[in-house]
Amino acid sequence: MNLSPIPLAIRTACPYCGVGCGVLATPVGDGAVIIAGDDAHPANRGRLCVKGSALGDTLSLDGRLLHPSVREDGALRQVSWDAALDKIAGGFRDIIAEHGPDAVALYVSGQLLTEDYYVANKLMKGYIGSANIDTNSRLCMSSAVAGHKRAFGEDLVPGCYDDFEQADMVVLVGSNTAWCHPILFQRISAIKEARPEFKVVVIDPRRTATCELADLHLPVKPGTDVWLFNGLLSYLARNGKVDAGFVAAHTSGFDGALDVAEHDCADPLAVAKACRVEPEALLDFYRSFAATTKVVTAFSQGVNQSSAGTDKVNAIINCHLLTGRIGKPGMGPFSLTGQPNAMGGREVGGLSNMLAAHMDLDNPLHRETVQGFWQAPRIADKPGLKAVDLFRDIEAGKVKAVWIVATNPLVSLPDANQVQRALEKCELVVVSDIVAGTDTNAFADVLLPALGWGEKDGTVTNSERCISRQRAFLPAPGEARADWKALCQVAQRMGFDGFDFDGPHQIFDEHARLSAYRNTPAAAPRAFSIGGLRGLTARQYDELEPVQWPVSPGGAGTARLFADGGFAHRDGRARFIATATRAPVHMPDAEYPLVLNTGRVRDQWHTMTRTGKAARLSGHVSESFIDMHPQDALKFGVREGELARVSSQWGAMVARVQHGGGIARGGVFIPIHWNGQTASDARVGTVVNPAVDPISGEPEFKHTPVTIERFGVS
Ligand code: SF4
Repeated sequence: MNLSPIPLAIRTACPYCGVGCGVLATPVGDGAVIIAGDDAHPANRGRLCVKGSALGDTLSLDGRLLHPSVREDGALRQVSWDAALDKIAGGFRDIIAEHGPDAVALYVSGQLLTEDYYVANKLMKGYIGSANIDTNSRLCMSSAVAGHKRAFGEDLVPGCYDDFEQADMVVLVGSNTAWCHPILFQRISAIKEARPEFKVVVIDPRRTATCELADLHLPVKPGTDVWLFNGLLSYLARNGKVDAGFVAAHTSGFDGALDVAEHDCADPLAVAKACRVEPEALLDFYRSFAATTKVVTAFSQGVNQSSAGTDKVNAIINCHLLTGRIGKPGMGPFSLTGQPNAMGGREVGGLSNMLAAHMDLDNPLHRETVQGFWQAPRIADKPGLKAVDLFRDIEAGKVKAVWIVATNPLVSLPDANQVQRALEKCELVVVSDIVAGTDTNAFADVLLPALGWGEKDGTVTNSERCISRQRAFLPAPGEARADWKALCQVAQRMGFDGFDFDGPHQIFDEHARLSAYRNTPAAAPRAFSIGGLRGLTARQYDELEPVQWPVSPGGAGTARLFADGGFAHRDGRARFIATATRAPVHMPDAEYPLVLNTGRVRDQWHTMTRTGKAARLSGHVSESFIDMHPQDALKFGVREGELARVSSQWGAMVARVQHGGGIARGGVFIPIHWNGQTASDARVGTVVNPAVDPISGEPEFKHTPVTIERFGVS
């Protein structure tokens, strides 16, 4: 009897949201792959959401980029890798020679693996000598990064997913967890079922699917979160909830933050009015928070994507510092990251204002440390351009070459028409992608085929600081190459040493060694590093189990930070930050009387280049939509099921009107996924305003004044 060998399951990690679930992928021939949840992965313990379960449906080679191409006489023509790399290296070199290093830029992505990110950051900051490398993670969690750095001294997430299960109350702020972080939501739901007294509070202008689990929903007026949490700080202080010992021993700045909070948020009735919520509901939240020691406050894009995003983050953290509810089981502020590797990118300095290993560009000692470790010829000496500013400077002609890797900014950035003008004007646009025909790669002068999920190897870090391996289980299609390899080959053609890596394990080892190297007392008073992972052999790297950083020399991870009350500021103390209330940059008026909010739907991911391939995922929501209150629809003369045009002072888009998404009067909600490849341009980015948070540079995706009219009616 002939027995076929049993196919082996490869342990890897989901490429979508920041929950970072473990996946078992079993190739069974002809490109088919059986997908299952990994019971042994701590994030999901065998569960997968509908997007993760459908990963096998997204792996076909239809529409894949298989060969490099270069634009000649207006058309992209297939060329060899050597020709494409020569064109990029030569173009960058010439522009730098004539205009200096700040005339070139990289725009990368939270979809990249940490190893890709590391190399991109090293090339730009250490060898080209400019910090003009930013990432689409700027659009989703840079306010959390800035808030963490202000409060804790470094971008550190204090807690872990287990804290949600050990808490007695979970507060979800600006997060449709049910759709955007589904497995974490399932874990919260399971606790609610087992312990009915476990309380869930949802703070969101929309009544989303997450509210199905809520004991209390506060439908705050968009943009008023600082009022709400300043009011909570004041309430806690006035009701004897200050952990005086913790505040005295481990923090500074309390009096100043409280003074500012009390300025206009001491009266809960005034706060309720500012936030447009029922006073009794507000007080219910305040009383519950005050009475419950084990509270996790998790926040996501509804907090971050705001011109006051950093202050919103700090207003939340302030309440946890005041009560000493941080660094202990079942409590703490918790940033839910959107992308699979937003955290990994931060660790290696993937933002234009950071250096690798959590070091700072504006710290001379840190610059010296990184340059010395890399033996780099130079080091960027000032922060680079953040995403929105970068594309402005491209349009202004100051940045003349940009290499866009694994992202589709013509759909995802705000004021997308401006982004299009920028790419039209740019002298050299390089795009690395896995698919042909996106809105962005239509503007490429050089188009490079990248490896996709299942084909590439490396690591990602999820919202709870857990590093997991993404492993290859499919062959590279056509001539597709890993992004780290293309970046290294361009670096070598530009004449730079330090890019002769044989594989991702060598890059990871260098990253871990740099992380350890920084931990001299002068460069870092406390060790929050992955130094314990340095020196892994290729095999050990391949077999790496999920581990939460910091990682000690013995290889053990760390579930919770600050357990001893020691923070990363030089004096070891956390900072209260005074967060004065302020309105969003652009407010509704007679011409644009509605407020546009944007976000995800359950079964699509980003600009749908992968999830758009899975028919079962399109069954949930098959086209873009404009969700609005029925009475507003009546007022503006638009009807459910009919096309309408939403416009702002930046642009317009068309979609079908629908009701039932839980939006309050005065607002509209449009999903972010649909792009210009549809019959009518459904890019909501054309409408979104380009205002940003002054500290983090994160755009205000949740608050654009718009109007609406029937489409096709003159
Ligand atoms: Fe993937 Fe997120 Fe779903 Fe987990 S919850 S399977 S990481 S999309």
